[in-house]
Amino acid sequence: MHVDIVPVGEVDAPVKREASAGLRTVYDCEVTVHDAQPVPDGSYDANRDQFRAEEFIELASHVGSGEKNIAITPKDLFYRRRNYVFGLAYLDGNGSVISTYRLQTSSDGGFSNRSAEDIFSDRVRKEVVHEIGHTLGLEHCDNKRCVMNFSPTVREVDVKEENLCGTCQRQVL
Ligand SMILES: [Zn+2]
Ligand SMILES: [Zn+2]
Repeated sequence: MHVDIVPVGEVDAPVKREASAGLRTVYDCEVTVHDAQPVPDGSYDANRDQFRAEEFIELASHVGSGEKNIAITPKDLFYRRRNYVFGLAYLDGNGSVISTYRLQTSSDGGFSNRSAEDIFSDRVRKEVVHEIGHTLGLEHCDNKRCVMNFSPTVREVDVKEENLCGTCQRQVL
């Protein structure tokens, strides 16, 4: 499998590096990083001061050269009635997105004694692995340690691991 990472807006080099590394580790896939793209026109919702996640997915699908493509953006994303999303993907689709905006919270609430930088890197890796999992047909998993566990807050992201549980692995690997 080939996954193309599509940076949208100004994405720092370490974020691209961590995302690539996470995907390679878990899916043993080829990963490329696309040229940076501007934020999609019309994706901004002025009332919410946030960006519509769907348009980032469309952009990734459209410009990405991979079998699966994932947009990464520092912009704050929302989806329908949800106040915010860390990421979004359609089941079995070829596009997906993650936002680093709300993954930056420096502390993990004492869950580990890792540095803020390491915690942030882990979150980025978990979120890209999670969204690409959806594009491979995986739904949310009840196993709290599994990367496919639904994690609406950073606390839950921090609790789960970067890897797919055995059950999820058997479906895609
Ligand atoms: Zn999900
Ligand atoms: Zn699982």
